[in-house]
Amino acid sequence: MAAVIIDGRAVAKAYKEGIAARTQEMIARGIVPHLAVVLVGENPASQVYVRNKENACIKAGIRSTVIRLAQDCTQETLEETVSALNKDASVHGILVQLPLPKHLDEARVLRLIDPDKDVDGFHAMNSGRLMNGQPGFVPCTPLGVMELLKAYDISIAGKHAVVIGRSNIVGKPMAMLLLAANATVTICHSRTQNLAELTRQADILVAAVGRAGFVTADMVKPGATVIDVGINRVDGQIVGDVDYAAVSEKAGYITPVPGGVGQMTIALLLANTLDAAERCGC
Ligand code: NDP
Repeated sequence: MAAVIIDGRAVAKAYKEGIAARTQEMIARGIVPHLAVVLVGENPASQVYVRNKENACIKAGIRSTVIRLAQDCTQETLEETVSALNKDASVHGILVQLPLPKHLDEARVLRLIDPDKDVDGFHAMNSGRLMNGQPGFVPCTPLGVMELLKAYDISIAGKHAVVIGRSNIVGKPMAMLLLAANATVTICHSRTQNLAELTRQADILVAAVGRAGFVTADMVKPGATVIDVGINRVDGQIVGDVDYAAVSEKAGYITPVPGGVGQMTIALLLANTLDAAERCGC
């Protein structure tokens, strides 16, 4: 039987409506949530991502500021910009759009962001909080996956979740969130042996690899929930990490690409911004 398609567009739309309502309620209390995005250079994909974030903020009633720095800007200028945003009490969330031009030290910049304004959840303080089960900011994409699972009432506790990918922005936080929800979690990566043997045990399989069609039907247990985080460009089309046509015949639930996880990422960025404003209370 064909899998139930997890409709990221519909879930994100409903979620963003909730965000807009929450924003209005906060504004009525005198708190105007404000996200500042720093964009360095002319990377076309980054320009699109930043425009999408700006539009989503405006639609939700969240104040948005985009600071554009030249491609050849110095580390010092970038760090001064972030420091000024840290000090600006009207700014609740700070996001530095990645990747940065090669001459800039990304890790240093991310470390500089005030952890309480780190709405991308990339600061080591927030990774540590997630690890320790303390409240903090969690990267938006894995948070979005958790919302999709919730929206479709997919139970997690006691299930075997297999995450392919161990990046700091997707794989590792994804695994920690599933663990916190009481799944038994296996993390796979490029050095994993017998990968298909592990993925076939997954009740929930998350692919965050960055390789088109990487997860094939023989790697999936019948009835499993398959979450495709991948975004790959093939012949001008966006495709995921999962061989969607074949796997959707075998899985119980599946996210399409586009129209799945990607839709949730910005929605959760907005949610993190509201949380930052709420915690600040100003
Ligand atoms: P990274 O390149 O940082 O990580 C990829 C991971 O996949 C690594 O841990 C790597 O292992 C693992 N991997 C690579 N090859 C294999 C293999 N043959 N077998 C098993 N594991 C393998 O990517 P990201 O985590 O940043 O992103 C992953 C995908 O998700 C990308 O397509 C990206 O575009 C997409 N993405 C989508 C978002 C969305 O909003 N939908 C947001 C962010 C990312 P190792 O660590 O050993 O190298």
